[in-house]
Amino acid sequence: MVLMKVYYKSPIFMQNILTSVRGYQYKRQRNGKYYQREMDFYNKFDVTDEVAVQKYQAKELQRLLHFVVNHSPFYKEFYKNIDIRQIQTPDDLKKLPILEKKIVRNHIEEMYTISEKEAVVSHTSGTTGTPMKFLHTYEGIQRRNAILDDFKREHGFINGQMKKASFNSSEIVAADQQRKIFWRDNVPMKQRLYSSFHSQAENIHYYVKNLNEYKPISLDGYPSTLYEIARYINTKEISLDFKPIAIFPTAETLHPHYREEIERAFKCKVFNQYASSEGAPFVVECTAGNLHYHKLSGVIEQVEDDEMLITSFMNNGTPLIRYRIGDKINFSEEKEKCACGSAFPIVQSLEGRSTDYIESEEKGKVTAVFLSIISEEFKTSIVNMQYIQKKLNHVIVNIVPDSSYEEKIDNIILQKLIYTFGENMTIKLRKVPEIPKDKSGKFKFVRNHLAR
Ligand SMILES: [Zn+2]
Repeated sequence: MVLMKVYYKSPIFMQNILTSVRGYQYKRQRNGKYYQREMDFYNKFDVTDEVAVQKYQAKELQRLLHFVVNHSPFYKEFYKNIDIRQIQTPDDLKKLPILEKKIVRNHIEEMYTISEKEAVVSHTSGTTGTPMKFLHTYEGIQRRNAILDDFKREHGFINGQMKKASFNSSEIVAADQQRKIFWRDNVPMKQRLYSSFHSQAENIHYYVKNLNEYKPISLDGYPSTLYEIARYINTKEISLDFKPIAIFPTAETLHPHYREEIERAFKCKVFNQYASSEGAPFVVECTAGNLHYHKLSGVIEQVEDDEMLITSFMNNGTPLIRYRIGDKINFSEEKEKCACGSAFPIVQSLEGRSTDYIESEEKGKVTAVFLSIISEEFKTSIVNMQYIQKKLNHVIVNIVPDSSYEEKIDNIILQKLIYTFGENMTIKLRKVPEIPKDKSGKFKFVRNHLAR
């Protein structure tokens, strides 16, 4: 991109100004009139009132269905033999066909209800085939941001008014920059962006020193980056000069050992949340530490094999109804009430994209969540770990050893993995000084090249 070339050639003070200019445009896009309307609405809405929640959901669902058959050529055809007036509540959704990814891939342009010019565009990541382009209306974007900011408000953080440190940006610092300044300021959003790409071992102390000067009220971004920094703080027994209110990881799986390490380093709670670039309904963590499916943002159905179907109230540009997003969800068995009082159902577990697994003939699919539990046992002697599968019955395990690592740990890990994957799995342990991130600065714990 030409603009980025100009940006990288500018001195750092200029890059800060450009980051703020971009931030200002972004703020206008996300915090417009719809945002304010929704923020006020959520502020007043009583989420402990089960009847009110049900009523809202039914009304939004009817509005959505009416909208799609009138504005999306795809849905007009897809539902042509169905009387959509019969679908009144989330339970009635079963009468509608499931929207498979393949269908979306082939028909996405007919699904759009707006032109690209008037839309905010997002792309799904390319881990499962070609990326898809989703168009969002400004209203949709603002409603989504309001849900997210309302979630943060519940945990005491007012987005845009309180200082935050964000670790999800790879572009703000040129890959080959020599100076050790790995952050830029977005003044309008009271945000300091830290490069998630440069946070390698030799640079981390610069990050910690700068955080100590900046003293953010909250931190957000990739849990893998937050974890790297937290681990450094804990190992070096650094005590920080600030204590954030809350930490909000985004975009990657939050492994249990990540959470533990991050909470210990920053002496504050981590609150997780699930969203997607397609615009799926939200799953958010409450003050009592449970995940809830946010019923005001859409409908989530749990179908066979815990597969998740999503219906979004927030994406009118590319409407998604009963879309099989590829993630798995498990709701709490009984109608268990959460200590926080919310009428939103408790989510027992949520698993990322179904490509996050390693497959062996003997044991089938071993999920990233399961592998992260194994890795946790070795966390005192391992800085980082990654599983890569390129062929069946073959796995490469990259290990970044700590100074306390001893050769005999190799055998313990091997035994554990043979037990996990079966005798026929060839397991190759590789000691590496660092595990490279992808272009966006994300770290992938499991890379499965076989999965489609
Ligand atoms: Zn709760």
